[in-house]
Amino acid sequence: MRNEAVGPLRKIIALIMGASLAGLASGQPVERLRSLAQAEPPALLRTLAELTAIESGSRELVELDRIAGLIAAKFAALGAQIDIVAPTEADTHRMSDTPEQIGKMVRATFTGAGTKKILLLAHMDTVYPKGMVTDQPFRIDGDRAYGLGIADNRHGIAVILHTMAMLRAMNFRDYGTITVFINSDEEIGSPGSRNHHTRLGTQHDAVLSFEAGGNPTEDRVRLATSGHALAQLVVRGRASHAGAAPERGVNALDELAFQILQMRDLSDPQTGVKVNWTMARAGIVSNMIPPVAQASADVRVARVADYDGIEERLRERIKKKLLPDAHVELNFERRVPPLEAKPSSRALSAHAQAIYRELGLTLKVLDDSGGGFTDAASASLKTNAPVIEGFGLRGFGAHTVNAEYIVISSIAPRLYLAARMIMDIAAGKAPLR
Ligand SMILES: [Zn+2]
Repeated sequence: MRNEAVGPLRKIIALIMGASLAGLASGQPVERLRSLAQAEPPALLRTLAELTAIESGSRELVELDRIAGLIAAKFAALGAQIDIVAPTEADTHRMSDTPEQIGKMVRATFTGAGTKKILLLAHMDTVYPKGMVTDQPFRIDGDRAYGLGIADNRHGIAVILHTMAMLRAMNFRDYGTITVFINSDEEIGSPGSRNHHTRLGTQHDAVLSFEAGGNPTEDRVRLATSGHALAQLVVRGRASHAGAAPERGVNALDELAFQILQMRDLSDPQTGVKVNWTMARAGIVSNMIPPVAQASADVRVARVADYDGIEERLRERIKKKLLPDAHVELNFERRVPPLEAKPSSRALSAHAQAIYRELGLTLKVLDDSGGGFTDAASASLKTNAPVIEGFGLRGFGAHTVNAEYIVISSIAPRLYLAARMIMDIAAGKAPLR
């Protein structure tokens, strides 16, 4: 890609012109940045070794405090102003599995000389309860780095840190504000951080989120993810001896079976709404007419507006009953909002693809609503600014016991991409609408 004969000269020009070379859209990589990115992987791997040594499961408050302290110190060393943000009860979206206490968040603010405001997101919690680091120690094997929560989402934090380190090395300060927001409750549905994400989203010109950037062989970013809700059905009947007086009971299990059968057709491929009954429980002992039965359905939506529609349809359906004396109750819990692909996100992702092409590499943009959940969805709720997920590394094995890894050879190009995105957005060279 680089012509050796003109390379050194271009390097010198790049050094002299510094950041101003960025975004010339010449199709040529910014050499100074590229060489910085190529030199950065060993330092980033050292950061990952430190981060993966801390067992910051979403419910491990002491360890979450420890990792928040480490992350804060690293961003402070790069010149950021640090705020450790404790979630408040009034600001918490409490769900059925939300713990009493939620970990603190780290907000690092870099103030530059320009006007554009950029929000960078990652999360510090993992799905693993304490004690699992022994089975998943940090180790390097060929082109893979393994470690606890390394793919979800320690690498995201590391990529942001080292992107900022490279921009600092280039003395790049053309942005107005870069806000880095690292939450500690993503794996439990972000009950304490989602409102922060939504507010921060409205205060910035672009949102880049650093969950995994593709699978082991393909670089990707993502513009849309599904929203997730939980529909819980509780049926109350009346207990009675199943042998001596079954007619005096009201069989909650019979009613539950009827309800599930009459709500099997609520999925709609046209809108992306999915309703699937996944769990059920009934009865106390086998010789008693069951007085209570419950079931829950996994609900997915592609658009925020579809939440209301599907909840309404569920509520309408349960009015029809098999047993007049049974009582049927629905609890509809909105867990994670969907990320909807929008024109501004599409435009900015095309810019990311062009940057990646400068390196001779291909970046795939996914804009269907499959995939996991993302905090970027909350950040996107009330803004038309572009919101793109997947600026992290290529990797594999999120939520597995011993197989999480990131692809080491993806570090340099991904650092280059993230830094160039920030530079071009700051310089007004990247589309934001
Ligand atoms: Zn994650």
